[in-house]
Amino acid sequence: MDDLFGGMEGGGTKFICAISDGTFHLLDKIQFSTTTPDETLGHAITFFKKYPLNAIGLSVFGPVDLNDSSRKFGYITTTPKRGWSGIDIISPFKQEFNVPIAFTLDVNAAVLGEYVLSPINNRLKNLVYITIGTGIGAGIISNGTVLSGLSHPEVGHMRIPHDKQLDPFPGICPYHGNCLEGLASGPAIHSRWNILPSELPGDHPAWDLESDYLASALINIILTLSPQRIILGGGVMNQDKLFPLIRKKIKLLLNKYLLFPEIVKKMDEYITNPGLGTNSGVLGALVMAKHLLTKNE
Ligand code: ZN
Repeated sequence: MDDLFGGMEGGGTKFICAISDGTFHLLDKIQFSTTTPDETLGHAITFFKKYPLNAIGLSVFGPVDLNDSSRKFGYITTTPKRGWSGIDIISPFKQEFNVPIAFTLDVNAAVLGEYVLSPINNRLKNLVYITIGTGIGAGIISNGTVLSGLSHPEVGHMRIPHDKQLDPFPGICPYHGNCLEGLASGPAIHSRWNILPSELPGDHPAWDLESDYLASALINIILTLSPQRIILGGGVMNQDKLFPLIRKKIKLLLNKYLLFPEIVKKMDEYITNPGLGTNSGVLGALVMAKHLLTKNE
């Protein structure tokens, strides 16, 4: 019989779990809200137990400990999300499943999914996936591998220009106040305007401000990493107005400094939405599960 894999994308708002065969054809999938760690991880374990899995790929929002020689490997570390700081993600699965288990950050899984499986992105060896939702984070493929150093990159906490006259909102990051995530995440928008981002109309000034912050962050990423494409996902990006505003402001900020055709002529493809829709993360987790099984065989 064909190998079966389980994949999990654990976000700050919702978790997605899926089962696939070795060709990453999805055989089953569920989605549920992120509540307490016990309840949420319990849902994932119950779902995976329905299948005779050969390997599992887990991905979760961060920051996470990815150092496999660390005592805290597989833990969420200093997250602002209440109740999830210091939570061991991998052990509850190890106790229940005697199969190889891969572990990474949600956006690392998402960029890997896009790189390996998205027909439009899978030849780009320098690819960035940024999620703008409950938090802001980026997974980065650099020269064909997922970039990591001391830990995973922490793009969401970069400093960006903040004109306090234009936007007196102090920001909500418990560590830095007005870092990128503090100013531009879904909860920051909610807190600044007192309305959920999904309920803000397209002509609300919130979107112009949001695109200022995101364009500043993307400029920093473009100038630092020189990616061949940047994929923007996450709930905040469901507002259609954002993509054109961000693209326009990136061109203005670059001011004809980078004259690559990708930027000058194909900006719509350069800053784009996920090729795999909302499945990038869970498919990336499945890719990791299969790679781990192949490595262990
Ligand atoms: Zn921060």
